[in-house]
Amino acid sequence: MASREETQSKPPGRPLGTPLHTVSASSELLARWPAEVTELRRRLADAEQLLRQTQAELQDTRERLRSALADRTRMESRLRETERRFQLMDESIPFGEWMCDAEGSLEYASPSFLELTQMNLEELRGFGWTRRLPPEDVEPLMRRWKSHLKTAETWEAEYRILGPDGQYRTVLSRGKPIFDENGAITCWVGIHLDITARKQVEMNLAEHVRKLARSNAELEQFASAVSHDLRAPLTSIGGCAHLLKEMIADRLEPEASEFLDNIHESVLHMGRLIKSLLTYARLGKQGLKLTDCPIERVLTSVLVDLRSAVEAVNARITHDPLPVVRADEALLGQLFQNLLENAIKYRGQDPPLVHIGVRPSENQWFFSVRDNGIGIDQQHFERIFLIFQRLHNDESRYPGLGVGLATCKKIVEQHGGQIWLESTAGAGSIFPFTLPKK
Ligand code: ADP
Repeated sequence: MASREETQSKPPGRPLGTPLHTVSASSELLARWPAEVTELRRRLADAEQLLRQTQAELQDTRERLRSALADRTRMESRLRETERRFQLMDESIPFGEWMCDAEGSLEYASPSFLELTQMNLEELRGFGWTRRLPPEDVEPLMRRWKSHLKTAETWEAEYRILGPDGQYRTVLSRGKPIFDENGAITCWVGIHLDITARKQVEMNLAEHVRKLARSNAELEQFASAVSHDLRAPLTSIGGCAHLLKEMIADRLEPEASEFLDNIHESVLHMGRLIKSLLTYARLGKQGLKLTDCPIERVLTSVLVDLRSAVEAVNARITHDPLPVVRADEALLGQLFQNLLENAIKYRGQDPPLVHIGVRPSENQWFFSVRDNGIGIDQQHFERIFLIFQRLHNDESRYPGLGVGLATCKKIVEQHGGQIWLESTAGAGSIFPFTLPKK
């Protein structure tokens, strides 16, 4: 028999599965029979609907589970791939990590370091790795490391270590301390990098620079000696030619007299060439006398020297407001003088218009000397900065020795700047150059 609560909580009608009525049921019950069947069918339909829904949800859940499983497999395989790549990187690039305890004793080094030292982790641990250092380097490096441990500053050192091929390799080691919540160092972590190749390149470069400086010095010494030694015989040839002409002037054919004049002229020209070569070779040899040079003052003094040349051709020289630059004032004067002389000398049909521009950048000053002269064809842009290279050999119209621009280049480069040319034949030239701000 159903309990009181069950009877109360059940919906009206009979529960499923209980026999409906006996044949002897009352006529009232018989009358309710079709309604109960309908109710039963409705509930059956509801149950089927619920079943279908549940099945669909189950199917959906199964699919989601399957896709989640596939995702997991994909992610696992991606993770494995990433791990494999990291391992490969660790094995193949000359880079790895290390970890030491607070006392500086090694606890971990990555595989690349094991490979480099041909030791296993157990052998390396503590200070075992120092067995692979050159014996004479162990004590100084350890002293530095031990005293560094107290500073809590970033560690950086380069040291040599014996590689698998029996050759010493250079390792760069960098590390930082890790602190606990009380600010005490718990351990040190860092990286090491095999910089042997870089070191070799640096050493080769330094060697080249040394050789270059040596050969440069020798060359300058040679130029200086040669030009000095050449001057004496040259003066003597010039003197003899002059004396000869004076002694036998009345007996000379006009042609012979002209020859002697030519000798005299050539000797003078060669004397000037030698002198300029000597000046060029000695340029800045004593070292730069750096001061804070107001370029305005440098220019004023150059313009005083050029006054007659400027007035002779009615040249107009303008300039931007000029800065104060840390430089050798005499050499800077020489630089502006050469560029301005050329701007006047290589003028076109119109009177020369020359402008000195300047603009700053973060680290340097950009100067430019612009003229409206005959210009230069692009094919000569490099050549004209070489000594004794002249594009115009017509001495009567464009007198010169071909040393001016080579001197400019040397002065600018000695100050750590660069000089170049922008020009089109017939349309003027610009000589831009840079000077460092500091
Ligand atoms: P120089 O003027 O004594 O010949 P430089 O070294 O000063 O020697 O110049 C080299 C050559 O560059 C000159 O012979 C000339 O042909 C060319 N040059 C220099 N400055 C200019 C200029 N402002 N315009 C045109 N050509 C120039």
